This record gives sequence, structure tokens and C-alpha cells, in this order.
Amino acid sequence: MSQDLILIDGTHGGGQVLRTALSLSIITGRPFRMTGIRGKRSRPGLLRQHLTAVQAAAEICGARILGAELNSTAIEFRPGSVRAGNYSFAIGTAGSTMLVLQTLLPALLQADGPSTVRISGGTHNPAAPPFDFIQEAWLPLIQRMGAQIELTLVKHGFVPGGGGVVEATVRPSALHPLALDGEMEPVTIVSAGALVSALPASIGNRELDRLAARLGLERRDLSVTELGGQAGPGNVVSIIAMKTGTTEVFSSIGQERLRAEQVADEAIDEFKAWAQSNSAVGNHLADQLMLPMAIAGAGRLTTVRLSNHIRTNAAVIQQFIDVDVRLTESGNQASIAVGPHPR
Ligand code: ATP
Repeated sequence: MSQDLILIDGTHGGGQVLRTALSLSIITGRPFRMTGIRGKRSRPGLLRQHLTAVQAAAEICGARILGAELNSTAIEFRPGSVRAGNYSFAIGTAGSTMLVLQTLLPALLQADGPSTVRISGGTHNPAAPPFDFIQEAWLPLIQRMGAQIELTLVKHGFVPGGGGVVEATVRPSALHPLALDGEMEPVTIVSAGALVSALPASIGNRELDRLAARLGLERRDLSVTELGGQAGPGNVVSIIAMKTGTTEVFSSIGQERLRAEQVADEAIDEFKAWAQSNSAVGNHLADQLMLPMAIAGAGRLTTVRLSNHIRTNAAVIQQFIDVDVRLTESGNQASIAVGPHPR
């Protein structure tokens, strides 16, 4: 296995290219140096969530790291062997626990025994996969690929309060290829709803009005989930739907100064783009399945369009693993095919 330092320019990607590099560095044993981390974001460099991912990745494999500081735009990561254990990580802010967890899970699948991981921070963050998406959409597909992973949401955490907790148990297991493509059957909506925590139920009710109107659902069938307990203010709209045996989750997170109707519209628009296409998965699930498919050595999926996340993730994956990641797009259909290089 080559020990040459892989040089990665992170300027055009987000935190995802860093997390992908961390996972693949541990799995392949190949060290890397990344510069220009989150270079085009309004606050470039490592935020708490990214720094926690780097530190947690280093801890599970005894890596040597340079530049792992808040706001740092360059790091060097030299992995050791991944070790099973009972790990606990605190992001210290409302940064996304799901993104830190997604960095660690692929690597812990290759450990020498079962592990548990507990992470505190945000569990339902804007611009990140909420817990329900990970549990209902991402995890079942990863399990279908062979992963033995179970997740528990111990406590919700929202921006800016944080304080959420998620736990995972991981047993060593190999990942097998997955194909999510072909002709799709019509979509079935499994559930649509709104959750509010320490906020008026009227916010959730306005979101349900919108869901009912735009999705053609009976308003009386929808209800607001009011979270008791100590989680801070938070609001989530979720649509869970199935297409040809695959469950998708489309979520949006309420934020200050965002009208309830706009929060609902964000989830509805993403759902509709997927539902009206012949694609197996939405854009978010697509970019999050590329890494497991690359580890498995092969996989195929159809999605709605090629997002920037999909393109930048493909580039980093191919720097670590000798696979071909083929991206194609035509009309309102895109596809990703991971496999051996064509001869
Ligand atoms: P940055 O601030 O640089 O964008 P980041 O670490 O917050 O960095 P990204 O690189 O943007 O994250 O990656 C965010 C990940 O969250 C992507 O995999 C994206 O598909 C996923 N994601 C964003 N919104 C949702 C959503 N509503 N549902 C599921 N996944 C989501």
C-alpha cells in the first residue's frame, strides 16, 4: 500500500471532501494533506464540527495530525490502524453530530471488533442530514450493503442550542455493491409531518397546512409532534416516501426569520423534484452513498441532478481508491456509476 502523501485541494468543496478524505485515509492507510479547506465558504477552514471529525478520526486510528485547529485551512493526517472501542465525542457547539458520525462509521466497520460511538451536538441541523434522514433513508441502504450498524437518537439538538446526543453500535462487516437504478414505480408518501420543540405549535400547524395543500394530503391525517423535555427551540418538517423499495426522507429545518411556509416549501420542492423524476434517490442521499459504494468497489444509482457535492466527492474518492466514478446527466436525470476502470 502506497504511503505517499495524497495532496488534496479542498478549495472547491465543503466539509464533505474533508470527511471523505478522513474516512478513506483510515480505510486505505494512505496519509493526506488537504489545503484550502472550505476555501470558498463565508467562514473558511475548520469549524467545530469539522475539527471534531478530524480529532475523532485521529482517535479511532491513532493518527498523527498537523494543523488540527479551529479555522485552520490546511491539515495533514497520517492514519494508523482503526481500533474498536467505546468512543465519546463532544462537538461543543450545535455542529452536526450526523456528519461526524458519517466520517467514523465506514472506518469502524473495518475495525477488529464491535464499537460504540456517542456524539453530542446538533442532531437536526440546516444543510446537513437530520437524524431521521440517516435512520430512515441512509442506514437501511447501508445495511442492505452489509453494514451492521444501529443508531439511537438519545436527545434532539438544534441550532443554536445544541445539546443533542446520538449513539451508534457498529460491528465489523464488509460492504457489498448496491444498484439503485432502472425504471421506477410511482412514489408512495409514507408520512409527512412537522416537529416543534419549545416553539408554538402554530408554526407546525402552518407547515402542515402547506404540506396538505401542496402534496394533496388530507389535513386531518397530519399532526404536529411537540417535543417535551429539555431540547431547545427547534422545528423540523419531514416527508418520508418510498419509490421502488427505497425509502427517502426530505427534511427542512426551521430557522429564525424563515417563515413556516418557506420551511415546508423547501422539503416539498426537493420531494417533488425526486417524485416527478425517474430517479431512485434524491441529491443528498446520492452524494452520501458514493463513499460506501466506492468502499464496496462498485455501485450504481440514479438521482435528480449532479450537485456540487457529488462532483467534488467523486474527485476525492478517486484520489484514494482505484475506482472509476462515472457521472452522467441528461434532462432531469443524473446517474453515478462506481466500478473498476474500463479497460
Ligand atoms: P460546509 O459548511 O463547508 O458546506 P459542511 O461540513 O456543513 O460544510 P457539506 O460539505 O456542505 O457540509 O456537506 C453537507 C452534507 O449534508 C452533504 O452530504 C449533503 O448532501 C447533506 N445534506 C444537506 N442537507 C440535507 C438534507 N436536508 N437532508 C439530507 N442530507 C442533507
